[in-house]
Amino acid sequence: MITRLSTLFVRTLREDPADAEVASHRWLVRAGYIRRAAPGIYSWLPLGLKVLAKVERIVREEMDAIGAQEVRFPALLPREPYEATNRWTEYGQNLFRLQDRRGNDFLLGPTHEEMFTLLVKDLYSSYKDLPLSLYQIQTKYRDEARPRAGILRGREFVMKDSYSFDVDDAGLDASYQRHREAYIAIMNRLGLEFVIVKATSGAMGGSASEEFLAIADSGEDTFVRSPGGYAANVEAVTVPAPEPLDFADAPAARRVPTPDTPTIATLVDRVNAEYPRDDRPWTGADTLKNVVFHLVYPGGKRTILAIGLPGDREVDMKRLEAAVEPAEVLPFLDDDFAANPALKKGYIGPEALGEKSVSGVRYLVDPRVVTGTRWVTGANSYDTHVIDLVAGRDFSPDGVIDVAEVREGDPSPDGSGPLSLARGIEMGHIFQLGRKYAEALGLKVLNEQGKLVTVTMGSYGVGVSRAVAAVAETHADERGLVWPRELAPFDVQILATGKDSAVVEFAEKLAMELSAAGIDVLLDDRKASPGVKFTDAEILGVPTAVVVGRGLADGLIEVRDRASGERSELSVHGATEALV
Ligand code: ATP
Ligand code: MG
Ligand code: MG
Ligand code: MG
Repeated sequence: MITRLSTLFVRTLREDPADAEVASHRWLVRAGYIRRAAPGIYSWLPLGLKVLAKVERIVREEMDAIGAQEVRFPALLPREPYEATNRWTEYGQNLFRLQDRRGNDFLLGPTHEEMFTLLVKDLYSSYKDLPLSLYQIQTKYRDEARPRAGILRGREFVMKDSYSFDVDDAGLDASYQRHREAYIAIMNRLGLEFVIVKATSGAMGGSASEEFLAIADSGEDTFVRSPGGYAANVEAVTVPAPEPLDFADAPAARRVPTPDTPTIATLVDRVNAEYPRDDRPWTGADTLKNVVFHLVYPGGKRTILAIGLPGDREVDMKRLEAAVEPAEVLPFLDDDFAANPALKKGYIGPEALGEKSVSGVRYLVDPRVVTGTRWVTGANSYDTHVIDLVAGRDFSPDGVIDVAEVREGDPSPDGSGPLSLARGIEMGHIFQLGRKYAEALGLKVLNEQGKLVTVTMGSYGVGVSRAVAAVAETHADERGLVWPRELAPFDVQILATGKDSAVVEFAEKLAMELSAAGIDVLLDDRKASPGVKFTDAEILGVPTAVVVGRGLADGLIEVRDRASGERSELSVHGATEALV
């Protein structure tokens, strides 16, 4: 194919977009690949769409290669299935909810576990039908709290999601492994340097879970790895809980029954006022189970204390903050977190809690907690809190365990040497969901013995639009984009420089010959200066540029390699063969 730059719908920009913080955002907008429609929502222009289609193709080929079959669900989904799994509520503010003219609730799908589960339930009933893997490449909607970096974190984005269905755990393992291999192939073909890390299963639930992170300093995820090959997202680094201290030898300390602990009592009053419960008021006891301050072992996370909140309702963090003293609103992170992602928005890191706030709640905190700005976990018991403790007098600060952050050089769980830290962009995520969704939605099949068994599932996602950004992010320089060949919108860009008709004619002829040989050609046939053409070619990032200009009189054209910057002269005779 020959595409002419004179008619291509593209405008390169000389200025960075005002909100561009990262290279991919800057260059994809400046090179005319994408255009912002609203925060976190982008339009794809011809060049961007070509790259997106190439990513989709790679993903499709690799999914097809493992025997997964493509389907496509609507993005507009009814509430009921998501109600059945409780995700209508659990998804919190990230979910776009809307109503039809009759007042029925709908949502814009953030992920499709429910729909796939129901589809298979609809049509399949026997172990003989399994294993099965289905996938789709589809637009997803998540009202991200912080849409960022152009299409890297959009509120509308394209994801490939697949789901595996097996009759037993061994089957699930095999399906998971096949997806893992496919994801490795996808990452390699995208030309991304990547690492597979242990991950938490977050709002999906389930057990085994790994993320594919593209290594990039601008990534939002931090991961650790050891010389021996252990690699984990810091979110998934588990730090052993400290031994509880009993403070038997702390005479000046006092033991207070939890419900009487002043802050808890006050907080319970406030929570009752703000979040009244129909059956009975919150008390100090369920406070500790469900509602209030309980100390957690976050492992790796820079957060520690929690206000646990009822999982059965959405929590408006603003209201909650208003309802309690700021010092009491502490970060939340434990198993309940998965059940209540709404709380994520309420994160307050230790950096936001100065010494003052810390001391304000000191009797709720294990005394090993506070050492400067570094934090430690450890709980008082559920029914008692020890208060008025003094470090050095009542306990040894040496016992302090820091889980505030995993740090460079910390020992690795596999014992192979010190951990190193780096950042990455989450490109893919694979989960063994197990029977959670199948159970909630009643997906059962008859097994070999004729017995009804619940199907076990896996869920696997790749950020397709994010991949365009991640590749751009890791394949750009100070002059523009530098596409790897497999993703470039064109194979060769021909720049006809100069008004000489021989130049134009040769450029046209070369374009025709290359195109006939299956090369996708972008021909810069504009009436623009050579300088403008060179600059634009570098911004657009086509791997090979061929300059047809002054040298033509001597029978020469110039070939420029965008990635290496190398330039070489080529004789016009046999140029086509040399470029194919
Ligand atoms: P993140 O941690 O970046 O928010 P996630 O864990 O919420 O991602 P998953 O639910 O695991 O995302 O979805 C599968 C894949 O979809 C992710 O690995 C990522 O590549 C992509 N993805 C998720 N959210 C977005 C988004 N807002 N914009 C673009 N791609 C996204
Ligand atoms: Mg997310
Ligand atoms: Mg994630
Ligand atoms: Mg994920």
